[in-house]
Amino acid sequence: MIVILLGPPGSGKGTQAKRLEEKYHLKQLSTGEILRAEVAASSEIGKKAKSIMDAGQFVPDDILINIIDSKVQKGNAGYILDGFPRTLNQAEALDHMLHVKNMAVDVVINMVVDENILIERITGRFSCVHCGAVYHEKFKLPLKKGICDICHHKEFTKRKDDSLDVIQERLKIYHHQTSPILPYYQKKNLVKDVDAMEKVENVTNKIDHIIKNCFKTDNSEGFYMVN
Ligand code: ADP
Ligand code: AMP
Repeated sequence: MIVILLGPPGSGKGTQAKRLEEKYHLKQLSTGEILRAEVAASSEIGKKAKSIMDAGQFVPDDILINIIDSKVQKGNAGYILDGFPRTLNQAEALDHMLHVKNMAVDVVINMVVDENILIERITGRFSCVHCGAVYHEKFKLPLKKGICDICHHKEFTKRKDDSLDVIQERLKIYHHQTSPILPYYQKKNLVKDVDAMEKVENVTNKIDHIIKNCFKTDNSEGFYMVN
């Protein structure tokens, strides 16, 4: 099964992907996380991507398409794509690569959030330096102040591209380059809109419901729900 989480920065794609990964045998592929790891490792890809990401621009399509192509394999239970595709070209390339692997996109979850809420979410986002767990200054603080819930480390960081000026650039690019993906998938009847302005748990429940319905109609082998 291939689930795409489509939505602007700050709509909660990463938060929901992690929660769904825990519940289903689906692997999260977050292109933002993959690229940040390349930057941290100073790899060739990381060196090319760093300044582009810091400015809130898109990393070239061919780099992203190669990354996803190398990670998606038939036989795995399935994937939650978080942050890919982000351009029409990436969406078409994804269809092509999946077709070659005898796979296909099952559902596109369109995470709908008002722009003022996105800005509040992104400016308040911070994460654990050690394990990358994502928190929010107002909406999701660690259970014990200053200690990561997951790995218990005490160091946190804010993303450089979460500053207000870069966010505005990222939202502009989202509207110009990523929004056109929606009609592409709507024509294929794959899009399910989700009001992602509700509490995290409520959004998870809605996505859960959609994925369960996909499982009911999907005949492929090799995956199942945990509970
Ligand atoms: P994305 O991956 O789409 O950029 P994130 O999952 O990183 O978004 O969420 C952005 C910020 O908003 C994070 O700080 C996260 O804790 C917070 N957040 C995510 N979903 C919700 C929600 N439903 N309500 C309030 N805050 C949320
Ligand atoms: P994200 O963590 O999804 O907010 O992504 C962080 C940054 O990584 C983006 O602002 C882009 O610079 C880059 N990036 C992530 N995914 C893609 C993609 N599919 N296409 C182009 N650039 C991407």
